[in-house]
Amino acid sequence: MPKITFPRMGESYRAFKMLLEDLGNEVVVPPRPSKRTLDLGIRYAPEFACFPLKILMGTYLETIEMGADTIVTTGGVGPCRAGEYAMLHHKILKDLGHDIKMIVFEPPRLHPVNFIKNLWALNKSGVSIRGVVAHIRRAWRKLQAMDKAEQLSHVMRPREINRGDTTRVYRKVLGWIDQAYSFEQIIEAESAAMEALGSISQDSKRIILKVGIVGEIYVLLEPASNLEVEETLGNLGVEVERSMFLTGWAKDNTWSETTERLTVKEAASPYLPELVGGHGRDSIGNTILYAKRGFDGIIQLAPFTCIPEIVARTILPRVSKDHDIAVLTFFLDEQTGKAGMTTRLEAFVDLLRRKKLFGRGAEPLTG
Ligand code: SF4
Repeated sequence: MPKITFPRMGESYRAFKMLLEDLGNEVVVPPRPSKRTLDLGIRYAPEFACFPLKILMGTYLETIEMGADTIVTTGGVGPCRAGEYAMLHHKILKDLGHDIKMIVFEPPRLHPVNFIKNLWALNKSGVSIRGVVAHIRRAWRKLQAMDKAEQLSHVMRPREINRGDTTRVYRKVLGWIDQAYSFEQIIEAESAAMEALGSISQDSKRIILKVGIVGEIYVLLEPASNLEVEETLGNLGVEVERSMFLTGWAKDNTWSETTERLTVKEAASPYLPELVGGHGRDSIGNTILYAKRGFDGIIQLAPFTCIPEIVARTILPRVSKDHDIAVLTFFLDEQTGKAGMTTRLEAFVDLLRRKKLFGRGAEPLTG
């Protein structure tokens, strides 16, 4: 039986593992990216490759060591390098002597045949179409439950009275959702999770800032790649709202684009009417939408050398000025350190707080 692995993006591996096992596969769960993952990636990926490509290179090498022989991943469309990732990874792994099989899912909305063919290749137990749909629906529901718990943790963390309560409870409830198997169990685990998170003691008098997080999908979704920026901000008294969750992204790329996504495009169009690949246009559109909703600031997370986010970064100073919202950009790569990032975040939050309290001290800026 093939041993299957896939890219790790936050907690989503729990739902993918369940789905692949339901289809009769043996799964090698990708470990959380660590220094070793990055060292391996840097050693074998081209120097100027995007940061996510390097981390995934390291992840694949680690999972191959653990016995994986098949990688399930996504392709991509649009004018950036995302569409070449799978091919490049495959070639590097082959050159290193690893006879690995790649199963590449292109956006089903544009490539329905590719989707069905790949799904059938993964259906080792020969589950009926109805059974496959049921398994996908359960995995999807699990993803939704995890996204909801994470969203609530972003609301609770800046308000918690005892530092660390939210992170502790969040870890615990993820385990509950992970253990749930049937549809009913997942719904039950989700409501228990929401209740546990909602019961964390809060300081209702605390002045909370709201910051929107925009940027490239991988560094948004994998906390190890962004040095847990959301947790750091939460501990600084900031409620974060991330512009992208896996369920939202998957929905847009599977059956239809959400109205929200169309609004993001419309919002971005006066500044960036063209598709520049990746999520560059979304970064502009979401910044404007957050500004209209009265957010205090924006953080853009961009992999070093990511062209779409570099394009967005050059436009954001104008957006910042026109919409009176402060924007801070982090270009992330193997050189980025947590201490340096925390210092910049503290200064940014200080600036936003002064503006909120005194209406000055935080002129529109980008950094
Ligand atoms: S979106 Fe950016 S990081 Fe992702 S593949 Fe494209 S250029 Fe690389």
